Amino acid sequence: AKLHGKGSYRLFDRQMHVAMLNRLTLENDLQRALKQQEFVTYYQPIVNLLTRKIIGFEALVRWRSPGRGMVLPGEFIPSMETTGLIVPIGLVILKQACRQLHTWHQGGWTDLTMSVNLSARQFASSTLLADIDAILAETGVDPTSLKLEITETVIMDNAEIAIALTKALRSRQIQISIDDFGTGYSSLGYLHRFPVDSLKIDRSFIDQTQSENINYHVVETIVALSKQLGLSVIAEGIEIPQQLEWLQQLGCDFGQGYLFSKPLPASESSRFVASSLGY
Ligand code: C2E
Ligand code: CA
Ligand code: CA
Ligand code: CA
Repeated sequence: AKLHGKGSYRLFDRQMHVAMLNRLTLENDLQRALKQQEFVTYYQPIVNLLTRKIIGFEALVRWRSPGRGMVLPGEFIPSMETTGLIVPIGLVILKQACRQLHTWHQGGWTDLTMSVNLSARQFASSTLLADIDAILAETGVDPTSLKLEITETVIMDNAEIAIALTKALRSRQIQISIDDFGTGYSSLGYLHRFPVDSLKIDRSFIDQTQSENINYHVVETIVALSKQLGLSVIAEGIEIPQQLEWLQQLGCDFGQGYLFSKPLPASESSRFVASSLGY
């Protein structure tokens, strides 16, 4: 028993060691990737569910790593949050997205909006507003066509900052969406304290394969709530026509999902917008 115990401790140590090495390697790789400009922005169309016309895109980061291949954000964003690397990378993505939007605007697609995700660390960054101002000035993007997506959890965990920041963004006419709506705090009482423009219903509620009835009523409630508050509402993760149908019936304004398109690199996004707008 003693030997066994010793052995498993050693195994445990080794596993911890490997996990720690993996973490340090990832952090190192991410630092280098930032310098090597390996982060690219993909764009997923957001569609008006009534007219089926594209209204804009959500910018979603990808890591094009020489060693690892194309890496999705779920694998590296948590590490970048811990190390704070998300702050500089977030600005790289915001700038890429604004440059792309400006190109589309100049090409005649003047109504397109760009949604960009803002993480907890970026949210708490004291230079955020100045950084956003600088990027808008540099890229020539009109603030009214930029939408920042902030999760419910980030807002609730930093209520004081959130009130000040949402007001400052509002005064610049930048739009704000509450992302992953419904997944965090169940209390809706906080909504009136933040001047936001739209609610974004998380993909987990659109997926009816799990607990159909509960999800249906959650979505119904969120759509009704958004109407009552005068906010627009966006559903994410629409994959099949049935989902589109019931969201339309509920009066959900906008949506995105594989039914319309997966996130695309810039060049393919341009082709998508050209074909779907009939230019
Ligand atoms: P999110 O903001 O909730 O973004 C939506 C996610 O759902 C994206 O995953 C998108 O590719 C995926 N998705 C969209 N439609 C469908 C669908 O029909 N079916 C399925 N199965 N998935 C769909 P992605 O790109 O892997 O991003 C994951 C998360 O990483 C995002 O969730 C967001 O929280 C974070 N993220 C992505 N890009 C950025 C970024 O530039 N900055 C920050 N701070 N976070 C980001
Ligand atoms: Ca989002
Ligand atoms: Ca999210
Ligand atoms: Ca989500």
